[in-house]
Amino acid sequence: MTQNSGKLFLVSTGPGHKDYLTNRALAAIAEAEVVVGYKTYLNLVEDMLKGKEIIGSGMRQELERCGAACKLAMAGRKVALISSGDVGIYGMAGPAYEVLLHSGWQPQTGIEVEVIPGVTALSACASLAGAPLTHDFCAISLSDLMTPWSVIEKRLKAAAQADFVTALYNPKSGKRTQQIIEAQQIFLSYRTPLTPVAVVNAAYREKEQLTLTNIKDINKQKIGMQTTLIIGNSQTFIKANTMITPRGYTDKYDINEKVSLD
Ligand code: SAH
Repeated sequence: MTQNSGKLFLVSTGPGHKDYLTNRALAAIAEAEVVVGYKTYLNLVEDMLKGKEIIGSGMRQELERCGAACKLAMAGRKVALISSGDVGIYGMAGPAYEVLLHSGWQPQTGIEVEVIPGVTALSACASLAGAPLTHDFCAISLSDLMTPWSVIEKRLKAAAQADFVTALYNPKSGKRTQQIIEAQQIFLSYRTPLTPVAVVNAAYREKEQLTLTNIKDINKQKIGMQTTLIIGNSQTFIKANTMITPRGYTDKYDINEKVSLD
């Protein structure tokens, strides 16, 4: 069977500044005939869109855009589906593959699919805070739109109990305001109230804001749709306005023995 000439690029655009968009992402957009994505993300690559078919501004639903992108690629077009951060992290890569598989797609005979990785919110936000992810960490989304709260709650408890540094995606929206309060309560029952927390708004975007605080004071901060929180583990500390998680537990290594700046 001959391979369909269509191609689907699943493109990560990073947190929101051109400097954090990869060359491969740019090349994919250049090669694409059709670009599908939400307006805010397309603005980043505006100057590359001339002469291309653009789909997205009219479609508010992410899944709708995803279906449209797959359909066009299967019809033989070269399509770039654009997603912020990393397309595979709470992004469109999963749903895109699901749509393709549902239509009988096989990697050998179907359209070519390329997933282009990018800088996700947790690494972007961590870089602004300092080095909070130097030890084991996990990411949990507080959005219960597509996941039952009982599942999210179970994961929060497991992460808190196992002393993972924990990045919280989708902490709050206009309608969802309780989840972050419940998450705070769960962490307070396993960690001390003064455990460091980075609250990062709009990382690498115009309204970027970093606040270093602690679990007790999480809800005094401005938290919204563009916020990611990073909750430290039992060893994480803030010094010189920088949040740091040591590479190991304090009884396992002594930095003064290992590194000398003399
Ligand atoms: N695919 C994206 C995540 C989409 S889920 C990625 O890999 O980053 C949307 C959530 O991501 C937001 O609610 C917020 O928690 C986080 N987020 C995305 N961009 C962000 C940014 N620039 N600064 C802070 N948080 C961000």
